[in-house]
Amino acid sequence: MILHIMDQLPNAFFNVEVHELEEVFSGPSLVRLKGKVNPPLFVATLLHGNETTGILALQKLLKQYVDKELPRSLTLFIGNVEAAKFHQRKMPDQPDYNRIWSGPDSSHETLQEHVLAEKVMTTVSREGIFATIDIHNTSGWNPHHACVNVLNKENINLGGLFAQNLVYFTRPRGVLAKAFAEIGPAVTIEAGLPGDLFGVEHVVSFISRCLDLSSIPESVDNISELNLYHSVARLKVPGNSRVGFDRECNSTDFCFMSDLDALNFSELPENAVIGWRGNPNLKLSVKDESGREVGESFIYYEKEEIRLKRPVVPSMFTTDVQIVHQDCLGYFMERYALTGN
Ligand SMILES: [Zn+2]
Repeated sequence: MILHIMDQLPNAFFNVEVHELEEVFSGPSLVRLKGKVNPPLFVATLLHGNETTGILALQKLLKQYVDKELPRSLTLFIGNVEAAKFHQRKMPDQPDYNRIWSGPDSSHETLQEHVLAEKVMTTVSREGIFATIDIHNTSGWNPHHACVNVLNKENINLGGLFAQNLVYFTRPRGVLAKAFAEIGPAVTIEAGLPGDLFGVEHVVSFISRCLDLSSIPESVDNISELNLYHSVARLKVPGNSRVGFDRECNSTDFCFMSDLDALNFSELPENAVIGWRGNPNLKLSVKDESGREVGESFIYYEKEEIRLKRPVVPSMFTTDVQIVHQDCLGYFMERYALTGN
């Protein structure tokens, strides 16, 4: 798999829809744009082909710099243009492009995508990195938030420039921002549903603010307003189970509310019902960050109801059945205290 490297954006970049990007980039591409100061800001996007906000924001932002120098050099990684063509997160024969950045699992073979990720890392880190931002959308409704995989001042301050909600997680492994956090400040930003106009504007202003910074701020003005959550469990449905949302629930193994995602980032009390189980032989898989099954300590089944054993804050709950199977149903989080230090 070839990594295309270019030192200027093709003009056509500004005139295509996200699903037409493959006409501009014939595969995963690095674009190195020179600006007034170095090292470059590194911005990755479209690791998930159906998450369009990053590209829309870059088109809008960079149009302003067609004949003007950027305040800081900017390196872009444009990820899965093939999946974008089909409006898919990933193609059936591909690994998830945001799970390939720490090499293969010990039990798995090295894929060409792991080699690609390695090449991106060596190429980008050679010139140094000011900060890394990976732009994503969520498949369900979530407030805009930033994710950090290493808890330190720089990552939290960078994320705090984007949103007041921050999520700390260490699993799943192979996430781009986690790998780049070894080199410098790195965050993943989640800018709401794909293509949402407010999301595009918000990302434009965040990236342009980062391009203008001379350093990552030592402190954040709004630290008392920041909410830091720790993602403690990931929920999945058994492989071949049938999942429905509301009206389609007659014959499914699991059923959830059609607006399940409205619960994201809200505090749910003990005993709250999060869904129903039509098939008593199946269980949701609830795994902690080390991959241990911890369902017993988070949920219980009462007749058909799936209820919470303790208070949690859900995130990333989605009502997209395909995403439920490809990725997960969502996460449970707990709140972390943040101090000035
Ligand atoms: Zn994504």
